[in-house]
Amino acid sequence: TKRIVLAARPVGKAKEDDFRLEQAPVSDPGAGQLLLRTRYLSLDPYMRGRMEEAVAIGDVMVGQSVVDVLVSNHPSYKAGDVVLAQTGWQTLSISNGERLRKLDAADFPITTGLGVLGMPGFTAYVGMRLIGQPKRGETVVVAAASGPVGSLVGQLARIAGARAVGIAGGPDKCAFVKNKLGFDVAIDHRAPDLAQKLAVACPNGIDVYFENVGGAVWAAAWPLLNRLARVPVCGLVSQFGQQTPPGPDRLPATMRQILVKGLTVRGFINSDFLDQFSDFQREVSAGVSSGQIKYREDVIDGLENAPKAFIGMLEGRNFGKVIIRVAD
Ligand code: NDP
Repeated sequence: TKRIVLAARPVGKAKEDDFRLEQAPVSDPGAGQLLLRTRYLSLDPYMRGRMEEAVAIGDVMVGQSVVDVLVSNHPSYKAGDVVLAQTGWQTLSISNGERLRKLDAADFPITTGLGVLGMPGFTAYVGMRLIGQPKRGETVVVAAASGPVGSLVGQLARIAGARAVGIAGGPDKCAFVKNKLGFDVAIDHRAPDLAQKLAVACPNGIDVYFENVGGAVWAAAWPLLNRLARVPVCGLVSQFGQQTPPGPDRLPATMRQILVKGLTVRGFINSDFLDQFSDFQREVSAGVSSGQIKYREDVIDGLENAPKAFIGMLEGRNFGKVIIRVAD
């Protein structure tokens, strides 16, 4: 198998030297096991966190893929099945059958199982259903709005009858968020007057701030939160590899605002709510089928390009759900 392992723990921003491409032999699948061939590998921001400690130096980078079953000694799968699997960043792998899910290529393009109909889409769905709970006429704000999580957050807000304000990096992404995804407003977070632009875009304040990035976007959104606003804390991608900058301790003021405005600020990890996965699949796949829900994928060829694509995603050089085409 060709595989990408963690070569070094990143110091600050992740760099290509933190990864290493290797060849390694693959054993024959034993009793109950399967031999899998990776077709599409998903790259996701959470992997940056895994590089800090969960993945050992020299181990294969973790990740979910769409794979072909080449050989199956497992009763539930046969050769030729297309499944989602936790293979990591490698071309061939052995599985014991755990955490696999069959895909039906006839229903949707199989790559959607890594994006709008997979983990990122589910994250948007469950964060909105559990915590965001947008109501008709309310204002919902989300950053990384052209990405797989943010794009669905805004579309779910619109379906609920709320206004959707998206924040994205650069004019192309902003045009996509507004014109293709149907957000009411899109704002470029690279603009120097982000806080002012956001205030203008939210004349009635913010009822749901879906937190994907932290940092300057959080600072701009925070003063605009209405009484009883909800803040699903989903990700903090702007803070990866950063030390807390010196400055005043804002925690007492933050706690006071949470108290007096009656805010709900709640973190969540999608995998804690898998009991809602079938509702998500039913509702969001119906929206994708009818064309009501739109999505965009950014497919890059070649496993060897995964490190560069991954680093690019953390800096916003992707445009849509990042997927590596490992083999077709
Ligand atoms: P994306 O594909 O949207 O990629 C991340 C995006 O973040 C970049 O494209 C970039 O978009 C944006 N970004 C990076 N730095 C900054 C910054 N300083 N300020 C503003 N935006 C920035 O990612 P996903 O949709 O896969 O994930 C979105 C978030 O959801 C992440 O924080 C991720 O960790 C989190 N997540 C959480 C899960 C959970 O269970 N809690 C599960 C899955 C994802 P742009 O060019 O627009 O700035």
